[in-house]
Amino acid sequence: MFIECTKNTGRIEVICGSMFSGKSEELIRRMRRAVFANLEVKIFKPQIDVRYSETNVVSHDAHAIESTPVASSAEILSLVGTARVVGIDEAQFFDDGIIEVAQTLAEKGVRVIIAGLDMDYLGNPFGPMPALMAVAEDVAKVHAICVRCGDLAYVSHRLSKSDKLVELGEKDIYEPICRACFNALRKAGKL
Ligand code: ZN
Repeated sequence: MFIECTKNTGRIEVICGSMFSGKSEELIRRMRRAVFANLEVKIFKPQIDVRYSETNVVSHDAHAIESTPVASSAEILSLVGTARVVGIDEAQFFDDGIIEVAQTLAEKGVRVIIAGLDMDYLGNPFGPMPALMAVAEDVAKVHAICVRCGDLAYVSHRLSKSDKLVELGEKDIYEPICRACFNALRKAGKL
């Protein structure tokens, strides 16, 4: 006889790293496992990120999973319904309210899996990510490979001259590089 577990299994997991580090792929992998376990899942992403598809979380290797674009973190609570596992992609673009939203969901027993850039293109902690990492039960840093020397990358270096904090783009705009290569560029005045 199946006995339902009544323990509160809510928790917060953060997957972070630079561009091209496989954050969205790891989010999709965890969400797929929840689907295999017959758990109701929902994925949200900020409306700002419409690079590939309005309604899908799409990783760079084109694995897609349906998602709901929202204008603010508060919308997540009204749209979450009865989902037991909630994915949040590109979390660095959300307002600071996302921290309380994640905590509220976890306290209600929801497993919250958050993917986002840990740092912006200048190497500064990005938006609500540091606070999300602090309140999470589990933090995974994933790494791209430095395009300049082959070590593990640590930051997304922007190749364009724009100084806007948010510039969506692909390999023509950003390159993942390691700390040593980032510092060499800084010393040469090329950041
Ligand atoms: Zn390097």
